[in-house]
Amino acid sequence: MQDEMPIRKIIHVDMDAFYASVEQLDNPELRGKAIAVGGSSARGVVSAASYEARKFGVRSAMSGAVARKLCPQLIFVKTNFDRYKEVSKQIRTIFFEYTDLVEPLSLDEAYLDVTENKKGNPSATMIATEIRKKIKEKTGLNASAGISMNKFVAKIASDINKPNGQKTIGPEDVVPFLETLDVKKFYGVGKVTKEKMYRLGIFTGMDLKGKSIEFLEENFGKSGGFYYNVVRGIHNSKVKPSRTQKSLAAEHTFSENISSEIFMLERLEEIAAEVEKRLHKSKLAGKTVTLKIKYRDFTLQTRSKTLPLFIASKELILDVVKELLFQEKMKESVRLLGISISNLNNETPKKKQVPKESIDVQLKLEF
Ligand SMILES: [Mg+2]
Repeated sequence: MQDEMPIRKIIHVDMDAFYASVEQLDNPELRGKAIAVGGSSARGVVSAASYEARKFGVRSAMSGAVARKLCPQLIFVKTNFDRYKEVSKQIRTIFFEYTDLVEPLSLDEAYLDVTENKKGNPSATMIATEIRKKIKEKTGLNASAGISMNKFVAKIASDINKPNGQKTIGPEDVVPFLETLDVKKFYGVGKVTKEKMYRLGIFTGMDLKGKSIEFLEENFGKSGGFYYNVVRGIHNSKVKPSRTQKSLAAEHTFSENISSEIFMLERLEEIAAEVEKRLHKSKLAGKTVTLKIKYRDFTLQTRSKTLPLFIASKELILDVVKELLFQEKMKESVRLLGISISNLNNETPKKKQVPKESIDVQLKLEF
């Protein structure tokens, strides 16, 4: 069946140090300097680090305190999601000049299927070069790209010549490339899985290929089948346009029902930290905070508040959650608490209900 799949041309575009580069673009005094976006508050986390800061080991998702220790001259800059979103939109407009099959992964990353493209250009490599050039012209920012026959390999490839570079891995090169690749570079293999693979003697794609599907499923569950296939160049996941996440949440079920708000607050702090972590991972922020309360009798209550700006930090989320928590007395003891963030910064503003064409028609009829 595999042979019947037409070979696809997939580009993964990834902006270089996106938030930090936008800040350096907008504030010339920050250029060439070690900067961190976010992380300035007492327990804040770095959202992005400039390449100058990365030389000191500063990374995103690192606590601001640790980052400051690694790089004392580090300049902390506040996040400005509205601005990042604006740039992200400019970039997507460029993508749509080539194809409608665009799947954003975050504000600064997307997969494009250019197998059939609007320019009729048979070379995905040339398209990637053009797109990166246009992004630079339009936004002043650098992007990197990976080009291959599936999303999995394209994603890995975009990292190879980063920053400001691209890498094509053609159909014949996919399997040899994966065979020599360290499994830690496989997309989807996190720290824990990497360690487990190493323990099992799986260090490279070649080692992975030597294992049976039964062995891999036994050790890695459902992902085992995924690893078995991708290392053979098989990854049929389509580029899914308009995959927009609507909300992001975390919750905690108590082993015993609780009724003390102070105790709830402690748990909510942990849940908010988890939400912050997930927002970071998806590079998202949101305007609406919802507190979910499930009581002992299983009735569910939600309380929410919408803010005028996007937030992503644990502290700000918790501020709103506290307000919602003390807004009214609990009905009875609580068995589950959850926090969700919606109105995310990945949503394009809602279009008016009536499409432009029909407005034109209406006007014509009326006049
Ligand atoms: Mg990026």
